[in-house]
Amino acid sequence: MHELSLVESIIESVEHDARSRGIKKITRLRVVAGELASVSHRALSFALENVVRGTFLEQANIELAVKEAWESCPVCQQKFKPEPPFYQCPECGKTVFPSSENRQVYIDFYEGE
Ligand SMILES: [Zn+2]
Repeated sequence: MHELSLVESIIESVEHDARSRGIKKITRLRVVAGELASVSHRALSFALENVVRGTFLEQANIELAVKEAWESCPVCQQKFKPEPPFYQCPECGKTVFPSSENRQVYIDFYEGE
């Protein structure tokens, strides 16, 4: 499952970063999924709950947020959500490809002690 390996790499990078800062335990983690990321949000949250078992994120309060894919048209400044497959501005028809953060799952922040 795509979501599982995604979550595993998220957990790994949090662990790696936390260790390099001398953090022993993660208390909070916020993961953001762009609306246009090709993941199932349910599978993602299921994977998050399960992959952290036995890691030092086990006690963490994990939050999964979905970021709505709003973009602003560079031609007419219209704010809209680009829809695949054409990503066209509803006002002027300009193709606005969604920014990378609307297509990715990323770590917003984590807290630890
Ligand atoms: Zn436009």
